[in-house]
Amino acid sequence: MPGRDKLPDPFFAGPGLNRADALRALPDRIAALATHPDARLLVWDNGAPSLGDDGRLLWSSVEGDPPLFLGLDGEVPHFSNLPPGDVPINSRAHFGLLGQLDLRDAPIFAAALSLANWHRRHGFCSACGQPTAPNRGGWSRACGSCGSEHYPRADPVVIMLAEHDDRLLLGRQPHYPAGRYSALAGFVEPGETIEAAVARELFEEAGIRVRDVTYLASQPWPFPSTLMIGVHSAADSDSLTNDHHELDDARWFTRAEVAAALAGDPAAPFVAPPRFAIARTLIDRWVLGL
Ligand SMILES: [Zn+2]
Repeated sequence: MPGRDKLPDPFFAGPGLNRADALRALPDRIAALATHPDARLLVWDNGAPSLGDDGRLLWSSVEGDPPLFLGLDGEVPHFSNLPPGDVPINSRAHFGLLGQLDLRDAPIFAAALSLANWHRRHGFCSACGQPTAPNRGGWSRACGSCGSEHYPRADPVVIMLAEHDDRLLLGRQPHYPAGRYSALAGFVEPGETIEAAVARELFEEAGIRVRDVTYLASQPWPFPSTLMIGVHSAADSDSLTNDHHELDDARWFTRAEVAAALAGDPAAPFVAPPRFAIARTLIDRWVLGL
């Protein structure tokens, strides 16, 4: 078994930019940073950050006073405008970019896309219904009418390995590509712990009871703004009751079957999730010993 530092990290888990949170309350400092000769402005295309042929994000020089201060890379400030309002927010159309996106830029891509789409969806105050405007370098919106301040949210989702007798439970959703199986997942509901959400989701979707829930890794998922919380759990039995409302199928796979799928073996009984999905990281870790 490799040491923990050798285990793969989730795709969006890199360090990203220095968010320089202390500067967000200082609009004069942010405006001055926008005039820095090396300041960079994110380039957007069709509602998503643009990628070059090398998979890196594209940047231009800054003109004007962009509403989103993404952070610093060393001394270099990074900004973004909002994509044009007439471009639809179509998350699934952006999945294809993830196959090309350079790992080093993935956290910046995630932050910019989630933040921009949050602004586009929150033009009005949820307390009084009046218009709001970007504030704190784009990391909140302020209501000029009632004074409320609104912050971008991340919605917690549990994504779960369930193990029984050295086999792993994986399922497929109706929209998956042919042959794909992945870890089961579901939103954490208000008033629920991570452990309770794992137990509820696995019982609802697969009819199994689990215990010993342990945290493995997390990943931001910018479609639109989810925090995936990856865990391992132990199932009390391997008897499945498939909930066909959410899953086409769920089944147990042996360690050898999972290893074959990860290796891309055409004889493997399923196709593994892509590298940018935290499910892939969790399954990789399971085969390596977590
Ligand atoms: Zn208001």
